[in-house]
Amino acid sequence: MKTTLRTDITVADICDGFVYNQLEGKGLFGLGGKLTIQPEYQRNYIYADGGGKKEQAVIQSLLKGYPLGLIYFNKVGQDKFEVLDGQQRITSIGRFVTNKFAIMDNGNPKIFDSLPADQQAKIRDSRLLIYECEGTESEIKQWFETINIAGVPLNAQELLNAIYSGSFVTLAKAEFSNSQNANIQKWSAYVKGSANRQEFLERALDWVSKGDIGGYLSAHRHDNNINQLKTYFNSVIDWVSTVFIDVLPEMRGLEWGRLYEEYHSKSYDPAKVSADVKRLYADPYVKKRSGVFEYILGGLQDKKLLDVRVFDEATKRSVYAAQTTAAEASSTSNCPLCAVGHGANESKIWKFAEMDADHVSAWSKGGGSSAENCQMLCITHNRAKGNR
Ligand SMILES: [Zn+2]
Repeated sequence: MKTTLRTDITVADICDGFVYNQLEGKGLFGLGGKLTIQPEYQRNYIYADGGGKKEQAVIQSLLKGYPLGLIYFNKVGQDKFEVLDGQQRITSIGRFVTNKFAIMDNGNPKIFDSLPADQQAKIRDSRLLIYECEGTESEIKQWFETINIAGVPLNAQELLNAIYSGSFVTLAKAEFSNSQNANIQKWSAYVKGSANRQEFLERALDWVSKGDIGGYLSAHRHDNNINQLKTYFNSVIDWVSTVFIDVLPEMRGLEWGRLYEEYHSKSYDPAKVSADVKRLYADPYVKKRSGVFEYILGGLQDKKLLDVRVFDEATKRSVYAAQTTAAEASSTSNCPLCAVGHGANESKIWKFAEMDADHVSAWSKGGGSSAENCQMLCITHNRAKGNR
């Protein structure tokens, strides 16, 4: 890879013909049309996120004469460049110079046009440190894969988008990484993250590929449609929202793709499901509400999913003491199930550490975790009972 350091390019040059497209993921241009600021493998603009602190900091740095760090261009043709690293910084500058946001000046918001002429000139005349790189596509991409962009490292999906850039990723981003997509709100009930950071795209790919996102992108890289990806994702979302008519915060980020695969061929009565959800949410013994959905889909069997509240140590110790005293008096085992058996342990006194607490009346049938519903069983009997 060949690199050339350029120190002659100013902010005014870069912002010549700057285009900012509100629909992220679209091309942004500068340098009088010679520079593509957002090639298809680049990430969406994220410096305006979180109140715009980052884009403000870029402008304050220019005004104070602080260095903005290195910017890398990929030379893709005679007088044609793409931004390899520095897209966020350049977009911040271009957006400011075209009055898209204001900086705070002694508590007053100031857009570019309202700055005094000397400050406008200071920004326009700032020189940027730019490396122009020339190399093969794989050299550039490999290098791109190893760098971090201005303090916000690429996440896994942004990296994959860069590695497998092409028609498929472009179409997929237009659908799943576009924060203007009207479906985002519905998706957000079930999928965590933001469109800008590619998290909806990542989930959609994860579901359709059963976890092999890289393999899927590689196989579909040059496809001219995303029909399968879109259909599968919508099937999962439609299924969840049909089975569970309630939308609850704990539904966000669950493994809906896996649950869809496991359970979508079964039929559920949404009214009964809703009643079960409400009952389990109201149950003080259910510690893990995010497990409620899979517990219901699986037919209310696997209570491990709910992390049901267990007996506390003091309760276990006092029940153990009472059982052991009574057992010693009658020369039987302190495990009530051993005591009624006819095996070698019929009269065995187990140590506390050799026993575990059991709900006499099962939690799933309404039994609580108080001392009255607690019995200590030897570990073997406790396991055997727990599995029923
Ligand atoms: Zn026993």
